[in-house]
Amino acid sequence: MHNVGWLESLKGMAAFASRPPSTRRNVAAVFLALSAGCAIAAAIVVHQPEPPTTPANARHETLQAAKMAAPSHAPGQSLALPLTRISVEAAPPTIIERNVEIARGDTLMAVMLRSGSDRATAHAAITALAKSYNPRRLRPGQGLTLLFDPRMPGGADAESKRLALIQLAFAPNVEREIQVSLNDSGRFISKTIYKPLEVRLHRAEGAIDDSLYLTAKRAGMPAPMIVELIRIYSFDVDFQRDIQPGDHFEVLFEAYYDEAGELAKYGDIQYAKLRVRKTDLPLYRFAMKGGEIDYFNNKGHSVRKALMKTPIDGARLTSRFGRRKHPILGYRKMHRGIDFGAPKGTPIMAAGNGVVEIAAWNGGYGRYLRIRHNGRYKTAYAHLSKFRRGIKRGKRVKQGQIVAYVGTTGRSTGPHLHYEILVNNKRINPLRLKLPTGKKLKGRELARFQDIRGVTAQKFAATPAMTRLAESR
Ligand SMILES: [Zn+2]
Repeated sequence: MHNVGWLESLKGMAAFASRPPSTRRNVAAVFLALSAGCAIAAAIVVHQPEPPTTPANARHETLQAAKMAAPSHAPGQSLALPLTRISVEAAPPTIIERNVEIARGDTLMAVMLRSGSDRATAHAAITALAKSYNPRRLRPGQGLTLLFDPRMPGGADAESKRLALIQLAFAPNVEREIQVSLNDSGRFISKTIYKPLEVRLHRAEGAIDDSLYLTAKRAGMPAPMIVELIRIYSFDVDFQRDIQPGDHFEVLFEAYYDEAGELAKYGDIQYAKLRVRKTDLPLYRFAMKGGEIDYFNNKGHSVRKALMKTPIDGARLTSRFGRRKHPILGYRKMHRGIDFGAPKGTPIMAAGNGVVEIAAWNGGYGRYLRIRHNGRYKTAYAHLSKFRRGIKRGKRVKQGQIVAYVGTTGRSTGPHLHYEILVNNKRINPLRLKLPTGKKLKGRELARFQDIRGVTAQKFAATPAMTRLAESR
């Protein structure tokens, strides 16, 4: 894949679509601008899945209704009201709801103070929250709903303008809502509400007229699933060169729906088949004994290669492995890696699954990353501008995951990636390397795979082809 631009934007889409609805809402406008012409992705994005009608939401609605009704109320009367159950009968009609969002650099405490809570109450609520959810995991863009009762003791202090917080709630993902509520004895209690999701299968297929991406999009396939489709074939198919008019694709993928029947998130591709240059390339998702998941062809062979030869998209090979005149030192020296010219900041992927062995400055290599893939193979990446956040010694990485960015640190004349493959700690020519292919299922595991393959084929046959995902709800 050489068309970095759209691939990156697709990756963005995938990441985007997996974010909770509250964050999606806020970037939707920007996203729409970015993806003009990408009608399907846009349709999915702007559609805001309403949360199912859980008790919380039902209450929310009654609150809204109560606010609108807003009968006059003597302040003294409300003090004896129970504080946890908020319904039309029990709730004072003046409950204030505030929907706020965590900003970059924010803390939960700061957001709560800004929303009108006093420090002691906010602290009590955060302490209760921490029992079920680490507040540090809240990310910018996360929406929060705060309920205040202005007529509670200590609430609506005219001088401080502070309000009495009675509930803090947010949904860290589509399946979970966390509520921290004040109970009858005046203590904050945290609880997690799980929303059951139902998985449904969708089938998309079509003749590839121009590109796989455009064809799949027209066939109603959502962008995150197209990205996944391209990813699982990326070892086998060069989407820039191999795809020709008349080629064909078909896919069976999962989507999760909430109780109201609204799309909550996408799942996995269970099966796909590409016909490329008159060759059928079927792939089936299969979980191996150890839990590792991969895609296998009809024979139970994984197409995944152990290592990528080019761990960077759209880069130009600028210097090969071997003896050359060193551009800085001036004398002839063995070049024990290969160089890819690319602009500063171009993402670099982990060439294979493994563990970060070094992520540090390393002399002439500049900022340097080394990944140990197994007892035999390691890969190294040099002259980096920076490491991806969280990449440090001991960190597990997955093949294709972005781990660092191109730079020109250390002994380097311009932005490029210096890439090395080490076999038994000896640097070898990556271009000459005969890469071991992925796994071949055998024996019992192969038999189990063939069973699952049969079931999947039946499911595919039984699933009607979709036109648009929106209509399949
Ligand atoms: Zn080099």
